[in-house]
Amino acid sequence: MTFRRALLTACLVLATAVAAFAQAPVEYRLSFPEPEHRWMQVEVAFREVPAGPLQVRMSRTSPGRYALHEFAKNVFDVRVRDGKGAALLPTRPNLHQWDVAGHDGTVVITYRVFGDRVDGTYLSIDATHAHMNMPATLMWARGWADRPARIRIEQPPARKWRVATQLYPTEDPLTFTAPNFQYLMDSPTEFSAFTERTFTVADAGGASPTFRIALHHDGSDADADAYARDVERIVRETLAVFGEFPQFETNIYTFLSDYLPWASGDGMEHRNSTVLTSAGALRNPQQRIGMLGTVAHEFVHAWNVERIRARDLEPFDFEDANVSAALWFGEGFTSYYDDLILHRAGLTPLDATLASLAGTVNAVTLSPGRTFRSVTEMSMLAPFVDAAAAIDRTSWENTFISYYTWGAALGLALDLSLRHETAGQATLDTYMRALWTRFGRPGQKIPGHVATPYTTDDLETVLGELTTRQFARTFFGSFVQGRDAVDYRPLLEQAGLVLRQRNPGRAYLITPALDFQGGGGARVAGAVLFDSALYKAGVNRDDLIVSVGGVSTTSQDAIDQVLARHQPGASVPLRYVRRSGESASTTEIFEEDPRIEVVTGEQAGGTPTAAQQQFRNQWLGSKVR
Ligand SMILES: [Zn+2]
Repeated sequence: MTFRRALLTACLVLATAVAAFAQAPVEYRLSFPEPEHRWMQVEVAFREVPAGPLQVRMSRTSPGRYALHEFAKNVFDVRVRDGKGAALLPTRPNLHQWDVAGHDGTVVITYRVFGDRVDGTYLSIDATHAHMNMPATLMWARGWADRPARIRIEQPPARKWRVATQLYPTEDPLTFTAPNFQYLMDSPTEFSAFTERTFTVADAGGASPTFRIALHHDGSDADADAYARDVERIVRETLAVFGEFPQFETNIYTFLSDYLPWASGDGMEHRNSTVLTSAGALRNPQQRIGMLGTVAHEFVHAWNVERIRARDLEPFDFEDANVSAALWFGEGFTSYYDDLILHRAGLTPLDATLASLAGTVNAVTLSPGRTFRSVTEMSMLAPFVDAAAAIDRTSWENTFISYYTWGAALGLALDLSLRHETAGQATLDTYMRALWTRFGRPGQKIPGHVATPYTTDDLETVLGELTTRQFARTFFGSFVQGRDAVDYRPLLEQAGLVLRQRNPGRAYLITPALDFQGGGGARVAGAVLFDSALYKAGVNRDDLIVSVGGVSTTSQDAIDQVLARHQPGASVPLRYVRRSGESASTTEIFEEDPRIEVVTGEQAGGTPTAAQQQFRNQWLGSKVR
């Protein structure tokens, strides 16, 4: 090779390298000519398109959501042009894709998209806002994962809306960028006249991100102030669990809170933001605490899921359902923390926290689902159950336990077991911090990507390092891969808490929802649980229970009165009519109420020891000085 040739080669290499880093961004223009009619106009320009057909798609999934959602169904009026404005006719290899051949290196697509659901998954456009989840809104090109994007948003007629988003700002307040495809899809955007509140919180390492609340609601400024105060308490208490903030890109974390009467209840985590939606109102204390629980849940996700991420979710697949065996950890442990953080932050009283924990334990312990599948197998069913629409009936009541609930129950078990095993040296917070150090913190190099995702084996390994390999193996073998029931009584006793039967000695009938509307009895309106007394009596969904113990079952009161007159184990006559019209008479044997409750030792008439009191404070007390 001559010197001249070498120089030429070097220049070519340099040119290629520059091209790789400065590829033309995908340019989006979003406009809202008639927002009241709930559609928007999208124009997307793909430039520097390589030769050959450009494969353009609508997503079938959305980050953090696991069922298929077929967002292409709301797209219409699609037109494709080349760089000179000449019309191109795409082919449709499937319902989600437009293949564009014969272009001149530029492909410009315009389309309209309808959206009328306010939540964390879909798109909503109306006279008050454009609430955009990107997978429901934007077409994208296959194989263009590294291309940056530029998004220009236009004001609807006669409005002055503002934008809240985790997209990167530019000098123009209505133009944003995303460094790559994953980040773009992960960036929900609220465009409205929202109420704004901001605050900053510093961590021990010197990071001091800004927290921005974009609140679209029908409440007062005082509601907004109080909400911002409580969100800040949640942020501080969550920071105390993990020890430091993630490195939020652009140094801002945004809460996109849409609390509107026509919203659907949801919360969706993203890398530097979260979408929080509810039909509730902040002025209603009951609804408000539920909304704050979602704030806590989603903010924990800024670490757990967004950065401490399971390998089977990285990178997110926008073409097919994402199946993860670790949602019991990603969602379930996060759910355990919502209760804990609300209580530590002083937002929920102890009795409400204990009632919630007892409800979680009851749901897992009493559900027949545990006899069929482990918590990892339950996690893998997410595409069937996570906002998945089915028109046929399923048997989930008998065969499924939510990985949120079961995972939360395991979070409780592990927290209390760790404290016991290590004499208080290690807690679930310590474990989460160890996972953060190993997988979350070093994985933050490329925005929207996690460089070091974990496997279930990794979760076990890190637990073993905090305790012993034997402890970790037993926990994972028995409760994660296995289906053993946790014995919560001794674990809770450490904190001076008493797990006891809720209604000892009381006859009980586990019934699904009963409908008394049709007259003549109680119509069974839900699944009958396997091996429950009703199941053994042959009753199933849609059957009409006519009488129990000789009393007409015309109301829940009537049934409760019969139960009150009998002991567990008593057998009484049961008359019912099957949905086919066939009448049946059988015997019903009442069970004892199997549900437990958790109360303080003080409520149970005792006095906790100093050690129990200390354990309780270390577990449930605020970690914010
Ligand atoms: Zn979640």
